[in-house]
Amino acid sequence: MRVFSSHKELLKSVDSNKQVGLVPTMGSLHKGHLSLVERALSENEKVIVTIYVNPTQFNDISDLKKYPRNLESDLDKLRDYKNIFIYSPTDEDLYEEVVSKNYDLENLDKILEGKYRPGHFNGVATIVEKLFDIFNPNNAYFGEKDFQQLSVIKTMVKKLSISVNIISCETIREADGLAMSSRNKHMTSEERLIAGKINKFMIKVKEIYKNKKIDKVPISIIDELDSLKNCKLEYFEIENLSKHSSSLTDEGDRIFIACWIGKTRIIDNLALR
Ligand code: AMP
Repeated sequence: MRVFSSHKELLKSVDSNKQVGLVPTMGSLHKGHLSLVERALSENEKVIVTIYVNPTQFNDISDLKKYPRNLESDLDKLRDYKNIFIYSPTDEDLYEEVVSKNYDLENLDKILEGKYRPGHFNGVATIVEKLFDIFNPNNAYFGEKDFQQLSVIKTMVKKLSISVNIISCETIREADGLAMSSRNKHMTSEERLIAGKINKFMIKVKEIYKNKKIDKVPISIIDELDSLKNCKLEYFEIENLSKHSSSLTDEGDRIFIACWIGKTRIIDNLALR
């Protein structure tokens, strides 16, 4: 493992003839991130893991400030892997001016997360395009945990004709079904128990969908979830994201959820087909 804060220094160390996989992260690594790293290592000769809390994708400054950062512990988790290069830059190494570009994401940045986090997906696309431009990876790995983000990146890549394979990786969950997330550590033990129920609600919707192809979550389920202690629902919707971007092939119906458990915002999704 080698750690770089300068992309120019990192590039000097990676043999450009090798097949390179890129795993962008914001750090505070957990097993979900490590599953991406391991998949990338199994499919590439060299893997670049980026650890950078990207300011342009935060629409709320207090969220950016409290986002967990722990580089030393992240490096400990990556230390035993061979053939990985860690890029942990300052803002200056990436941005001349810390602002987002504007992308044509059709309707993708107007629904679900896009509705609740205006500007978020332009920020994500900005940093991901920069990383593709700098490292020119053969393959780039993203989690289905952030399924809408994955679709935004596929759309951006297609529209800008960037030559990279976008590899989607399954969501890694805790034993009770909660999707692993860097934000989970903010919850109290009582909140954590409630958060564990979210996946069960998604599975309940999936069961109903199997028998009768619904296009909306039944109101009784929305009410039941919303009435959980400390839970404030933002959305709980069935969507097929390919209807919102002409760059996507059929992604299939999925259930998407965002809710606050206390002061922690949780997002998750599940394929219905
Ligand atoms: P983040 O550090 O939250 O920006 O996530 C970096 C990458 O890891 C993104 O592609 C996420 O979708 C992915 N990721 C985060 N949590 C999980 C998880 N529980 N399972 C699989 N991938 C994940």
